[in-house]
Amino acid sequence: MSANVLVLPGDGIGAEIMPHVVRVLEHVDTVIDFEYAEVGGIAIDRYGDPLPPDALEAAKKADAVLLGAVGGPKWDDLPMDQRPEKALLGLRSGLDVFANLRPAILFEPLAQASSLKPELVAGLDILIVRELTGGIYFGEPRGVEVGNGGRRGFNTLVYDEREIERIARVAFDLARKRRQQVTSVDKANILEVTQLWRDVVCEVASDYPDVELSHMYVDNAGMQLVREPKQFDVVVTGNMFGDILSDVAAMLTGSLGMLPSASLNAGDQGMYEPVHGTAPDIAGRNIANPLATVMSAAMMLRYSLDASAAADRVEAAVASVLDDGLRTADIFPEGGGEHLRCVGTDEMADAVIAALAGDAGGHPDQ
Ligand code: NAD
Repeated sequence: MSANVLVLPGDGIGAEIMPHVVRVLEHVDTVIDFEYAEVGGIAIDRYGDPLPPDALEAAKKADAVLLGAVGGPKWDDLPMDQRPEKALLGLRSGLDVFANLRPAILFEPLAQASSLKPELVAGLDILIVRELTGGIYFGEPRGVEVGNGGRRGFNTLVYDEREIERIARVAFDLARKRRQQVTSVDKANILEVTQLWRDVVCEVASDYPDVELSHMYVDNAGMQLVREPKQFDVVVTGNMFGDILSDVAAMLTGSLGMLPSASLNAGDQGMYEPVHGTAPDIAGRNIANPLATVMSAAMMLRYSLDASAAADRVEAAVASVLDDGLRTADIFPEGGGEHLRCVGTDEMADAVIAALAGDAGGHPDQ
């Protein structure tokens, strides 16, 4: 049986990179039927709506959604509720993707690109699991009101135990396939809601005796991520703490062009996208790094299409082209390097495909 993948290229480098990533996916064993829809700025131009209803319907029916990126200066002056980014929120809530997975993996040859010392980050492999559809970003009441004492702004941090339990289970299940460690991040010394978070995570942990659970306050977690990042395996946390910590973890790896993400719902359905945006400053020049989207596609194979072996092969192909010295401009060190060669988007994708085919094509020495 073939898998049904909805491809949403979006705008800027999202649209530029996506055809190359589809080419990569056509070189794995998994049979995929690709469907396409327009979302973001291009959909505003064409249909007056960043997320046309047909696109959302197609997303709900697909086994997985592969998204490029949306947005750009052309649409920046539109009112908030009509902007391209509305498509992302609509897709996330429409698919109920509550678990956001952000791996921070540092391929050995890129250790120099990190702002931390290479020995602290070489071989880094952390997975941040962020709750995506609850917490303070969604809690009610919220707003700004004017009273006798002047203006007052407020938001509400709220989680119920069902929300905590389901994200904790995602983290424990993932840890079982990795190094069997979960660090739950909270602020249980100050916030009652995160004391509940801690209690529920402990209850869930009793179903996973093979996984080691530890707890960490969010301030300490921020510090530990830059002090000794390799101590972590899976980190699970709420929406706002996860937003901040996943960006910190991401920067350990040095480049936005290398960061994939997955957002999963309670079934196997997921939305897969690079962490980066549409990069209007470099769009249309064949210099964008396609690897974040390639690795998002690998996550899709693993988590939604039940094709772990194909996912491993794609990730190994990425590692192999980096070992061979190929670099897009964003990961090309200043002053170059002895065995390094700066390549464009298309050539990087070609090299991944050649590596997948078991061919040493694209090697700089050839
Ligand atoms: P950005 O991620 O697009 O770019 C930030 C910087 O990183 C730029 O200098 C860019 O050239 C570089 N960069 C990003 N991805 C790269 C890649 N693959 N290869 C090489 N260099 C890369 O962030 P931004 O500039 O803040 O936002 C630009 C637009 O993208 C905005 O309209 C924003 O709203 C949108 N955006 C969309 C998403 C999304 O669709 N998920 C995420 C972030 C930003």
